[in-house]
Amino acid sequence: MLELDPRDELICLRSTEPLAECGGMVLPAIAQASIFRKETMEELHRDLARENTASVYSRGTNPTVRVLESTLAELERGEMCKCFASGMGAIGATLLGLLKAGDHVLFINDIYGPTLELARRLEEFGVFHDQVFAKDIDTIGGAMRDQTRIVFMESPGSTLFHLLDIGGVATLARERGALSVIDNTVATPLLQKPIERGVDLVIHSCSKYIGGHSDAVGGALVGSAELVERVFYNAYMLMGAIMPPFEAFLFLRGLMTLPTRIRRHHEDALAIAKHLQGHAAVARVYHPQLGDGEQPLPSVWRGHSGLFSFELAEGGFAHAVQVANRLRLFGKAVSWGGAESLVITGHKSDPLAIADARPRVPAGLLRLSIGFEGVDALIEDLDRALA
Ligand SMILES: *Cc1c(COP(=O)(O)O)cnc(C)c1O
Repeated sequence: MLELDPRDELICLRSTEPLAECGGMVLPAIAQASIFRKETMEELHRDLARENTASVYSRGTNPTVRVLESTLAELERGEMCKCFASGMGAIGATLLGLLKAGDHVLFINDIYGPTLELARRLEEFGVFHDQVFAKDIDTIGGAMRDQTRIVFMESPGSTLFHLLDIGGVATLARERGALSVIDNTVATPLLQKPIERGVDLVIHSCSKYIGGHSDAVGGALVGSAELVERVFYNAYMLMGAIMPPFEAFLFLRGLMTLPTRIRRHHEDALAIAKHLQGHAAVARVYHPQLGDGEQPLPSVWRGHSGLFSFELAEGGFAHAVQVANRLRLFGKAVSWGGAESLVITGHKSDPLAIADARPRVPAGLLRLSIGFEGVDALIEDLDRALA
């Protein structure tokens, strides 16, 4: 049974309080406005000086988005949050807002493909990076350079689901004068709290579990007011990848059921992963709670959500495609985190093919996002496709 922090359940439900004056609406009003008028010029000038939290112009702050921002900050135990048009919007603004030519970024383990593509693009502007495949803090430390300003991690990653000692990485980064950043999308704000382990900045793609219904794209950055403000003034306002108020409304609606959904995703995915682990056609299941001793559960991590991968015993990529095509209940689509189950093959398919990833994603890999069709029906579908 997945134990969540009871405080989080309340935060997810009472995210609407700040706009409660809207006639007792359960969800906040959608503030569909580009500008916000002030009574006096003095008031306008005052708010222009704190545009990161005051509603002046919706490229800076919008009241509906602000409710989501304060809710996500509270869930991640951070001081401040800004929401973005997408997870990549948050990642891009964070890197551009905090780095300058000559700086170095160290990526650890599995990293979302487009994040690495952006890092390669940044080389054109004199920002360099390396990727290290290790859990051991000394090895990670050995890969840092004098110019390393950001240590960027995902734990669990979204393909092979490696877990890192995120507190250890945060301490290492701090000792060496770098910031630690985690893409916490897979764990959601419910399953681990990186800021409590000393991580400086937490990034989410809201497009996955936070939204939860495959109908909205968004992102978020949470951390100290000082760091989030730096990203706000150096990149957020200037790049303009902002979250529209309707999307913020959808994500607040999604948050209301996030704890319930995560419990169900967790339970069903674990049952299906265990079934596949004992299946003759399956070589290996990549689920962080089915570790073979390699992936001890850190005390900071409450358990896994509904996303995992498995590798076929034989046949490689062509067979993986065939198995995916035989599945009836799993939609063939990118992304994950909705009510419907999804499948994607790893190797040679863009979203999972990490060009410079070592070790490479196994050829016969399928990644499943477990939805709410029911364990029995999904296992029956998988067994038939694997027969
Ligand atoms: C989807 C995803 C992103 C990018 O988020 P978008 O909202 O699609 O831009 C970043 N990191 C991880 C781990 C993701 O799964």
